[in-house]
Amino acid sequence: MTDTTSDNLMEKVVALAKRRGFVYPGSEIYGGLANSYEYGPAGVELKRNIMNEWWRTFIQERSDMVGLDSSIILHPKVWEASGHASGFSDAMIECKKCHTRTRADHLIENHFEAKDEEIKVEGKTEQELDEIIREQTMKCPVCGAFDWTPVRKFNLLFETHIGIVPESQSKAYLRGETAQGIFVAFKNVVDSTRVKLPFGVGQQGKSFRNEITKGNWIFRTLEFEQAEIEYFFDPETTAWHPLFDAWKAAMEHFITDTLGVRKENLRWREHGDEERSFYSRRTEDLEYKFPFGFKELWGLAYRTDYDLGQHMKFSGVDLSYTDPVSGRKFVPHVIEPAVGVNRLMAMVMLDAYTEDGDRTFLKLAPRLAPYKVAVFPLLANKPALVEKARELYDALGKHFPVAWDDRGNIGKRYYAQDEIGTPFCVTVDFATLGEGDDPAHKDTVTVRDRDTGAQERVAIGKLQEFLHGKIYR
Ligand code: ATP
Repeated sequence: MTDTTSDNLMEKVVALAKRRGFVYPGSEIYGGLANSYEYGPAGVELKRNIMNEWWRTFIQERSDMVGLDSSIILHPKVWEASGHASGFSDAMIECKKCHTRTRADHLIENHFEAKDEEIKVEGKTEQELDEIIREQTMKCPVCGAFDWTPVRKFNLLFETHIGIVPESQSKAYLRGETAQGIFVAFKNVVDSTRVKLPFGVGQQGKSFRNEITKGNWIFRTLEFEQAEIEYFFDPETTAWHPLFDAWKAAMEHFITDTLGVRKENLRWREHGDEERSFYSRRTEDLEYKFPFGFKELWGLAYRTDYDLGQHMKFSGVDLSYTDPVSGRKFVPHVIEPAVGVNRLMAMVMLDAYTEDGDRTFLKLAPRLAPYKVAVFPLLANKPALVEKARELYDALGKHFPVAWDDRGNIGKRYYAQDEIGTPFCVTVDFATLGEGDDPAHKDTVTVRDRDTGAQERVAIGKLQEFLHGKIYR
């Protein structure tokens, strides 16, 4: 696998992603739309596999977790209560000459990064950011001018309207995070299930943010898939420190063991006082070493009872919990692990990208691979080979996602499957039909391993079991 900071890795992975149907630029035939992407046939499978692994690990395999699917459009008051309507904003600056809008913090960070210096901009006011930009005479990254508007805040929530006739329309928002839906449904979950504290509610789904920044591919986009958990507990009976550490361990284990990402490319970063939200006791980000630096992948925050408290205030509904044994009534506290699936996917692809001589392959964990197996007839113009290969394709297809390819020579087919990370390629050849030199090879196929390129003959009758053992080991 390639060092994630090596030259051009990002360009290579972005090019591969487009060439092989993982990720296309958004609305490309109309000239593209900044910070938006489409997930192609291989990409939708990879993204879904990551989501399914998350769901299996954190919801289905845990007795203390349940799932939820709330709405993208929630009551507008939700975002007042959460603070997003007033405070969910980025500080940005506009070039008066070419009208490019840039995030002030990114402009400053890039400026210092180019000088190999580090600066902490989190928590600085608009005025402080403005002063740094002017002191350092930072120029517009697009036209080179030094002619800025003052730094000002820009809300990230996407606005929309409910109602067809303009007079009856009311303003609403596309959700900026999935987490708020969990707080809103908290009472219903408690009342309709057998959960008891401590327990978590997890949800996956699209969130929307009006990001005006250069996006670094699918790392930061206008719409993205979030996977968030609110883990509720009683602060009097559950100590938060060990709980927080247990979540850190679970998150890290998911990245390294389930998604197969190298541990050395991960690090934890704790938010300082100036960066952490005022209601949070501790926030730590699990960061991945992207080609553009260590960046947040997955946030973990102890948010106390702030969110439920806010929703109680704004809705007037009692969201406290009654302990079934002691009868004590209180508002639960919460620890929130929040991740973006698209960021996970970018990480997985960057981490798996491997060059070995003139061979390029994605060393994806087999569970994540869009196709687990590819089946080829050696020659497309020999009906007996094609028929046998089709039979095999249909049989294996009942157990795994299988790719079919009969175009071009075998080398080209291997090359294509390597680039989408298919762990095994199965070829039906003349020996399979009993027409080869060795009669013992009748009803066997060659199985070629993506990572080593090694080939072995496996009996068709044992193939499914053979592959299953290697894919889901
Ligand atoms: P950042 O500082 O990178 O903007 P954030 O701290 O605003 O992220 P959260 O609000 O904590 O992010 O969201 C939780 C997770 O959602 C993040 O860790 C990230 O993985 C993902 N995420 C947030 N914004 C985006 C985006 N615009 N595109 C893709 N993923 C995102």
